[in-house]
Amino acid sequence: MFIYEVWVVVAETMFQSRDPYLELRSRYVMNGVALHHPVTIERGENAILYDVNGRRYIDFTCGIGVTSLGHANKELINVAEEQLRKLWHVCVMVMNYRPYVELAEKLAKISPGGSEKQVLLQNSGSEAIENAIKIARQVTGRIYVIAYENSFHGRGTYGYALAATGKYKPYKIGIDPIIPGVELIPYPYCYRCIFKQEYPECSLVCLDYLEKWFTYSRVPLERVAALVIEMVQGEGGFIVAPIDYVRELKKLLDKYGVLLVDDEVQCGWSRTGKMWAIEHYGVDPDILVTAKAIANGLPLSAVIGKKNLMEKTVPGSFGGTYGGNPVSCAVASKVVDIMLRDRLPDRAAVLGETIKKKLNELYDKFKLVGDVRGLGVMQAIELVKDRKTKEPAIDEVVKVVNKAREKGLLLLRAGLYLNVIRLHPPLTIEEENLEKGLEILEESIKEVEAESS
Ligand code: PMP
Repeated sequence: MFIYEVWVVVAETMFQSRDPYLELRSRYVMNGVALHHPVTIERGENAILYDVNGRRYIDFTCGIGVTSLGHANKELINVAEEQLRKLWHVCVMVMNYRPYVELAEKLAKISPGGSEKQVLLQNSGSEAIENAIKIARQVTGRIYVIAYENSFHGRGTYGYALAATGKYKPYKIGIDPIIPGVELIPYPYCYRCIFKQEYPECSLVCLDYLEKWFTYSRVPLERVAALVIEMVQGEGGFIVAPIDYVRELKKLLDKYGVLLVDDEVQCGWSRTGKMWAIEHYGVDPDILVTAKAIANGLPLSAVIGKKNLMEKTVPGSFGGTYGGNPVSCAVASKVVDIMLRDRLPDRAAVLGETIKKKLNELYDKFKLVGDVRGLGVMQAIELVKDRKTKEPAIDEVVKVVNKAREKGLLLLRAGLYLNVIRLHPPLTIEEENLEKGLEILEESIKEVEAESS
């Protein structure tokens, strides 16, 4: 009898772990699209995902910071259903429609800084970045663009988004040469300062470099149309730019007439504890780019720019068949309402405190954890083999992520060396699921540290 029961359990496990869709994927989906977790997800409910075998996972990925209001959010489903019955598409360049202009108004009103804004809607973050830079070039008449090392601005297009992305592997492999005119400078990644300084004693030598060295040896700032920056580098491993860095940077850019393009594709929409990350800095961006959480997973992105710039753009030189799909726009309008109604920036700040407390405990317990950092709910740990040398613990991160998945938690890697674990839970996550997820993270690190010592 006992043997029979064991056999039933083994047979069930073998049967359940079969996933024919992974086979389908490897056969029909091109190799260039990598897969983080070898699971096929069937459905979701707020912070929980279920795979095709019915396995349950706590989702700390949000599809890379997208489903901030949770999976299968009922209010959003209702809005999408209603809009689907009314109108799917007319194209904003052909006819006007309400969801586009109503969303544009809302975005202009919730955008940071006091100035009047105008909006362009597109489909993806990459496209929005392309357009932000096109706008900056068209209205300034200047050619060059500055972006940061270790940044990410998109691989969905071959243009400014890819050129501004400050990481070669894997995004540019075999695709280079990349379009000219984009220059990369070091990001204030204080944990690994390339100028070997300590913040704040450094007096921001990295900014000095931009004005004094960069401008003489590479491109004078008078020739630069825009500088693109993430207030919190997302793919770069949740690196937060220091407040005084961004404030001084904006003064410098203003002095030379360079536009500041604030890429909030990942760090926008309440994730940092404010609607927009740049609100922490008290700086008014000339152009803000957003996507991801804007429509909680439906394709949509936006470029929100100062009106005095946006109104100088040449009619017909911007647009596209799909940008600002009516269903995506209607859902995004509801996302704005819910974020304001439920004070989600505040909730993100509170959740962020809980996460940070736990991550600091992990730092105290495990030598593998080299750095804890983040803003709001965007919190991360950087794993190192040795706290002094800071040698990246790349394999260990893979092991932690895999163990966590086996225990029912989905995590995301990030960083220059992919040795960072970044947390992207939905802002609507139930406290017990957050706690449980953090426990699984701890258990997984504990096991990996024990195995590697
Ligand atoms: N900018 C940032 C900061 C991003 O994180 C991303 C996507 N990870 C993009 C741009 C590109 O967005 P998309 O993948 O929608 O093209």
